[in-house]
Amino acid sequence: MRTTQMLIPTLRDDPGEAETVSHRLMLRAGMIRKVAAGVYTYLPLGLRVIRKVEGIVREEMNRAGAQELLMPIASPAELWRETGRWDFYGKELFRFKDRHERDFCLGPTHEEVITDLIRREVRSYRHLPLNCYQIQTKFRDEIRPRFGLMRGREFIMKDAYSFDKDEAGAQLSYQKMYDAYQRIFTRCGLTFRAVEADTGLIGGDVSHEFMVLAETGEATVVYTDHGTYAANLERAEVPPPTESDPAPLQPIKAVSTPNKRTVEEVTSFLNISPRQLVKTLLYKTGQEVLVVLIRGDHEVNEVKLARLLGVNEVTLASPLDVQVTTNAPVGFAGPVDLKTKVRVLADHAIKATRNMVVGANQPDAHLVNANLDRDFKVDQFADLRNAQAGDPSPRGDGRLTLAKGIEVGQVFLLGTKYSKKMNATILDAQGQERLAVMGCYGIGVSRTAAAAIEQNHDAKGIIWPVPIAPFHVHLLPLSQSTAVQEQAAHLYDQLGRAGIEVLWDDRDERAGVKFNDADLIGAPFHLVIGDKGLAQGHVELKTRKTGTVSKLPPSEVVGTVSSWINGPSTGH
Ligand code: ATP
Ligand code: MG
Repeated sequence: MRTTQMLIPTLRDDPGEAETVSHRLMLRAGMIRKVAAGVYTYLPLGLRVIRKVEGIVREEMNRAGAQELLMPIASPAELWRETGRWDFYGKELFRFKDRHERDFCLGPTHEEVITDLIRREVRSYRHLPLNCYQIQTKFRDEIRPRFGLMRGREFIMKDAYSFDKDEAGAQLSYQKMYDAYQRIFTRCGLTFRAVEADTGLIGGDVSHEFMVLAETGEATVVYTDHGTYAANLERAEVPPPTESDPAPLQPIKAVSTPNKRTVEEVTSFLNISPRQLVKTLLYKTGQEVLVVLIRGDHEVNEVKLARLLGVNEVTLASPLDVQVTTNAPVGFAGPVDLKTKVRVLADHAIKATRNMVVGANQPDAHLVNANLDRDFKVDQFADLRNAQAGDPSPRGDGRLTLAKGIEVGQVFLLGTKYSKKMNATILDAQGQERLAVMGCYGIGVSRTAAAAIEQNHDAKGIIWPVPIAPFHVHLLPLSQSTAVQEQAAHLYDQLGRAGIEVLWDDRDERAGVKFNDADLIGAPFHLVIGDKGLAQGHVELKTRKTGTVSKLPPSEVVGTVSSWINGPSTGH
């Protein structure tokens, strides 16, 4: 393609709205433009990358035995009411009414639609296992759309759904998808980790997320360096402490802590370690207010808390609820002599702590040397905190490390969650009706393109991994002389014939402008043709990633580029 014939509106300056590298570089390289919050147009260059990712996804899905279909974006509310997700999905579901006032939504995911199809069309176990996928635009009215393609309200997803006659078959289907995902993200040239994950709004029993490791990731990945444990922070288990505090119990007493509310304020005022302090947090779920006790140096994991309570989400109680329940303003709540009878949950670490400092349930006061059972009761202990770096691995294989990650894909073993609610049965070999056992598998195609940039860039711009680059070669003739122009046209033609994708900068621009745009756009190889070099019989081939330049005769260009593109890992 010639630059003059393509819409590539590059920007010299950083757009103010962009907070992350990928968002900034996609705007600057002329790959995307915003239409509304979280809604983007993919310009030709951006779309080429999306198509590359889709191509790899499609090949690996087909190779794993999945078959492609395409479901509608609009789906009727009745299907969602069958599973209860019309209500459960909440505000994230884009809803609309047709002219007959019938409720519809724009699909955020397609379990309902595919399950409806399969229950109608597949009757016998002989037709299973079955795995169907699509690559399609999805809609989720995210609370905070941001970071460009990373968290859109409209985005491209590959979603696959497997149906098996029994649990063992479903596990096999799950494993096949897991393996396909490993191949997909490896082929995309990304550094990633598969981690154990929570099942969230999709539900089910077992799940893994595929995380591209990058500083700007919104998710936290927890793993052991040499071991096998890897989970996301929401999920990462924290084993109960094995040793308890041997200190003798001291008499409880109240101390004045004027205006000291936060862990930092109280611990420095009383000159104690945050490990000695217990935070008393009040949560609300439905009408119930409950208390969660957590050590001062730990953070509550609200996903674990919600899972323990069997609810979708929990929220911190309002200051008014805190006042009504504890008789004290926020910052001074404690478990001793609570005014109101409420459920008290505590993280495991509380059991191993003695002589704790807690709020006194009156303004400007704390209690020191509060002790479990003697001074207050706990209704239930559980793993309620976030894992921290240095915590022991729940699998006993060393200590945990934390890193930031971008979730690019997730696989779920659903079991019969959807088939039961929608009565999707098949006949087994004995002619008995059985619920289909399902799995579902998503990949954020547009997010993967953005994640690749987060991981592969420098101060000048993008450095595309070869397999998903919009073009392999950026052809940069440095003058309008006949010799240079003819050589450029010749090499463009030759490279094209060899199946190499070339972006030909045929603008009459200064060399500096062309180099800057080429670095910004990030094709893996830059082919520079200048009068001086040509007079000496060579052109220059630059590797974007390393900056290394090879001078070579024009006749060797095609062979060299082909070997770099197709060869095993060449470091290019
Ligand atoms: P997140 O936790 O990031 O909101 P999710 O777990 O809700 O994502 P899934 O339901 O697992 O998302 O969807 C499958 C894949 O679709 C995700 O792994 C992610 O790559 C992609 N995806 C999800 N939401 C968005 C979004 N708002 N914008 C872009 N891609 C998304
Ligand atoms: Mg997910």
